[in-house]
Amino acid sequence: MSTLEIKNLRATVGGKEILNGVNITVNSGEVHAVMGPNGAGKSTLAAVIMGKSGYEVTEGTVTLDGVDMLALPTWERAVAGLHLVMQYPTEVPGVHIDEVLAEALSARGRSTKDLTARIATEAQRIGFDADIVSRALNVDLSGGEKKRNETLQLAVLEPRIAILDELDSGLDIDALRACAMRVEAATTEQNLGVLVITHYVRLLEELKADKVHILVNGRIVTTGGPELADTLERDGYAAFA
Ligand code: ADP
Ligand code: MG
Repeated sequence: MSTLEIKNLRATVGGKEILNGVNITVNSGEVHAVMGPNGAGKSTLAAVIMGKSGYEVTEGTVTLDGVDMLALPTWERAVAGLHLVMQYPTEVPGVHIDEVLAEALSARGRSTKDLTARIATEAQRIGFDADIVSRALNVDLSGGEKKRNETLQLAVLEPRIAILDELDSGLDIDALRACAMRVEAATTEQNLGVLVITHYVRLLEELKADKVHILVNGRIVTTGGPELADTLERDGYAAFA
């Protein structure tokens, strides 16, 4: 059982305050959705949790099982159990996914013995072509293939808490369903906790949200159950702005 606790988090980018006191607690097995208009600070929240450079935390805390994440470099946060599925996955020429996963597993003190089989199993599970797995990481992949690639890494690494920044962007309907179902399965099979940033109720139909938080101007203005996403789909953000 793990807990990611974000408390009164304030952060600036380029001297401008983007996060204005964010509070969210995600436990193992739970799915929390963060929805909000463009520019609300959703990607900034993901970046600050993972420690992307260029963001300054001015107040508040981010802890995983009581351990201060903000004090650690990004790779140590990942080893501790945080995992970010990026909105725009980076292309890394010359580096292959099995090499990335072998390094990541070694850093976690875990065996790489049956990694090839594991990758094959996971690729098949999300309908990912084995041929693509053998290509350089994300290079010349379609948007949907990149997100399947990200989902495969998540499945193999088995983090405690995953942050998904618009997993749905660039995905067709089948790919979206495959990726969302795999993450949902991880919440029960591996007790994964999820913080999912999305604009679309469609994603939440497969990846069942326990809580929906609405972020506007760097602050959570409303928290509710999955029905809140339906209200948003119908009425837009006007009522929450
Ligand atoms: P969202 O993901 O909710 O659409 P972002 O977190 O990407 O929003 O951005 C929130 C605000 O922060 C936007 O106004 C954006 O222009 C600004 N911002 C984000 N990153 C930077 C940066 N590196 N430099 C300056 N402003 C930034
Ligand atoms: Mg964003």
